[in-house]
Amino acid sequence: MKLSVIGCGYLGAVHAAAMASIGHEVVGIDVDESKIASLSQGEAPFFEPGLPEILSDGIASGRLSFTTDMAQADGAEVHFIGVGTPQQKDGYAADMTYVNAAIDALIPHLQPGDIVAGKSTVPVGTAAGLAERLASTGATLVWNPEFLREGFAVKDTVDPDRLVAGVPLGDEGARAADILREVYHPAVAKGTPFIVTDYATAELVKVAANAFLATKISFINAMAEIAEVTGADVTQLADAIGHDARIGRRFLGAGIGFGGGCLPKDIRAFTARAEELGRGESVGFLREVDAINLRRRERAVQLVVDALHGDMFKKNITVLGAAFKPHSDDIRDSPALDVAVRLRGLGAWVTVTDPEALHNAARVHPQLNYVEDRDEALRGADAVIVVTEWDEYRGGLDPEHAAQLVAGRVIVDGRNCLDAAAWRAAGWTYYGMGRP
Ligand code: NAD
Repeated sequence: MKLSVIGCGYLGAVHAAAMASIGHEVVGIDVDESKIASLSQGEAPFFEPGLPEILSDGIASGRLSFTTDMAQADGAEVHFIGVGTPQQKDGYAADMTYVNAAIDALIPHLQPGDIVAGKSTVPVGTAAGLAERLASTGATLVWNPEFLREGFAVKDTVDPDRLVAGVPLGDEGARAADILREVYHPAVAKGTPFIVTDYATAELVKVAANAFLATKISFINAMAEIAEVTGADVTQLADAIGHDARIGRRFLGAGIGFGGGCLPKDIRAFTARAEELGRGESVGFLREVDAINLRRRERAVQLVVDALHGDMFKKNITVLGAAFKPHSDDIRDSPALDVAVRLRGLGAWVTVTDPEALHNAARVHPQLNYVEDRDEALRGADAVIVVTEWDEYRGGLDPEHAAQLVAGRVIVDGRNCLDAAAWRAAGWTYYGMGRP
């Protein structure tokens, strides 16, 4: 099939390349000229495992191209919308400027029978409004939310856990769902659940999933706060409750909390939309989820301050991690960088290292010192804090080896990802999150 993908960021670039990898002819369209220039050369503009390979294969095959020219969408049967929906600068709601601009630019290039498939995460009710705007073109709108996880985006796009299609009623909707089945043919053939529903449900599935995940993380972080005043160990608590199949251990990792380009802004946008709908109280708990999450960053900073007996003057602190999570170079709302910036604000000399995210971090926070080599970053540190659980830090950092590099053996494990006993045995003072 011939497809267009409008918006070539973390979602769209992967989607375009993944669709080409399963045999479609795909044009990726974005307003960012530098992004399009690097994608056109087969170079991924961000770190995502597996993306460079499918990008260069797609371009070499002639099935994948990138452009800033919306006219190249002409002739595509399905047009995916994957532009950003960030938090508004002056509120909690989603900023819909980019979605509206993309739809305005696309409308002149649509033919009757085309499918416009929305993938951006939007406030419930958006699709119904967009469908009205598209009515005069004869194109059909489908809402096809995206659940990919950065770091696993290629696998999640080609082989998702489930597919959701919000479609209009009647034959038009049935035809649109069939076309989406054809787009995702390998996943559909292997029996991946394909849920056909209305627009509102499809939009809500995405925000409900993110709200649930955020709540699960903040739940265990709330337990960490209780553990801290009772001497309990939240990691053992999580193991114990996680054995209950109804609860499950995943997303019960207490630490400095969630961040990134999705969860924080999505739960805030959900709260804002629920208030507009007169149901603010239904998701009022998400404010608490947000507040718990942000408190954990403060707690991590406090642990470092306490470990250094309140004296940050001329102290060297090494921050292991900058990306909001491992296997990504995304620093949007990264708790890791937030902690680094706060420590710097307290007067410490902060050195940050990360396997992939330093170039992004340095652009946004030039006041921090960035060192690529992990061991070099550790040299002379008075305290070390782990804020992104890269393998290089969790199992890959030998406490005996690290002890030879630092000035003071103080480690704060902001992700509860280290073997506390091994670090203590190597002479370190170990502080975890919600652990004695
Ligand atoms: P991003 O900022 O990386 O990418 C957005 C892209 O859209 C940018 O490259 C931007 O230049 C482009 N763009 C903006 N206006 C445009 C226009 N008028 N025409 C063409 N391109 C335009 O954001 P992202 O992380 O890829 O997220 C995109 C959407 O997908 C958001 O709604 C997000 O919530 C959702 N989402 C993201 C993920 C994820 O893991 N990143 C997962 C699921 C859903």
